[in-house]
Amino acid sequence: MEVEVKTLTPLWTGGAKSGAVDRVHETGIIGSLRWWFEAMVRGMGGNACSPEQAEQKCIYDPEKPNKGICHVCEIFGATGWRRRFQLMVNDYTEPDHSITKVMLENCRYIDSKGRTRVPTWYFPGRLDDKPRIGSLTLRIRQTAPDFQTAIIGGLLQFMADWVAIGARAQLGFGVFELPNGRLDTRPLYERLIANAGNCTYTRLPSLQNIFLARIWLENATVQDTFNLKYDIRQLFSGQQNKSLRHFIMGTIKGERLVAKVKISRPYGNGLIRVWGWIPKEAGVYKNGWNREKVVDAIYQYLRKNYTLEVWREMDSPRDTVTPNISSAQAFLRSILGLREEDYEA
Ligand SMILES: [Zn+2]
Repeated sequence: MEVEVKTLTPLWTGGAKSGAVDRVHETGIIGSLRWWFEAMVRGMGGNACSPEQAEQKCIYDPEKPNKGICHVCEIFGATGWRRRFQLMVNDYTEPDHSITKVMLENCRYIDSKGRTRVPTWYFPGRLDDKPRIGSLTLRIRQTAPDFQTAIIGGLLQFMADWVAIGARAQLGFGVFELPNGRLDTRPLYERLIANAGNCTYTRLPSLQNIFLARIWLENATVQDTFNLKYDIRQLFSGQQNKSLRHFIMGTIKGERLVAKVKISRPYGNGLIRVWGWIPKEAGVYKNGWNREKVVDAIYQYLRKNYTLEVWREMDSPRDTVTPNISSAQAFLRSILGLREEDYEA
């Protein structure tokens, strides 16, 4: 399978070991595909290990049930079990030299020593470490005869519709389109249905805790992306909320905590994507904060300050397409763009 991808915001796919990005690297793309597949498998109650926790990672063992491999590792690989597909990139992109330091000129904050500061987000890169713009061709090949590469195609279509690909989505990178038309999402849906089970995940990304949104702001610039990021951080300001703020928006320095809310750079005449996940259970919820209050604060902020084009969230009155979809299957069909009448019970 060959899929042409065109960047709508610059793409940053993570460096090789040297740290240099001289071409688009496959690992960042595969990492983001895996992240969304995990969230979907968990949402359907399927079996997904958590790669962040080493003791829970899958290790191939022919003696164990399912060979010791979860539904995600089954496709994306694990120790002793190779990935069921190979992804090769034909890269026609160019470095985006317009990417520089972003200052938040209109904002001020008081630092811990009482000094007034202008918040700044750097793109921490050298000249040879730039995000890239343009076209690339993804060549996806099965490495096992029973694997359908169309499952990966479905994931790409979902990501083109709602989110971003590659690394550093928190810096607004990786929104893309598929210029040669839509890819079928049914093989992905059918695979997820086949993997469905009764597991619940209250602390990991899943269909039950993600949100997908798109806002519009006339003549939006990169500055607006970073202003919005700053403003969402401020929704959770206050000393007693510091750990909550870092939990939701990440830590700025060193990025020890990755932001759970991502905001794209503007594309297509002022569109900005905002998406993320907020778990139901977390140790940082104190002083009346919980998932509902966090998500609602973000939603209300976007609705008040921007044209909110769309907001998708499972089992929520906030969803602007179909509110209160309590079935994970139905919500999945909806965000995959599948026609409801094709799946009537
Ligand atoms: Zn696994």
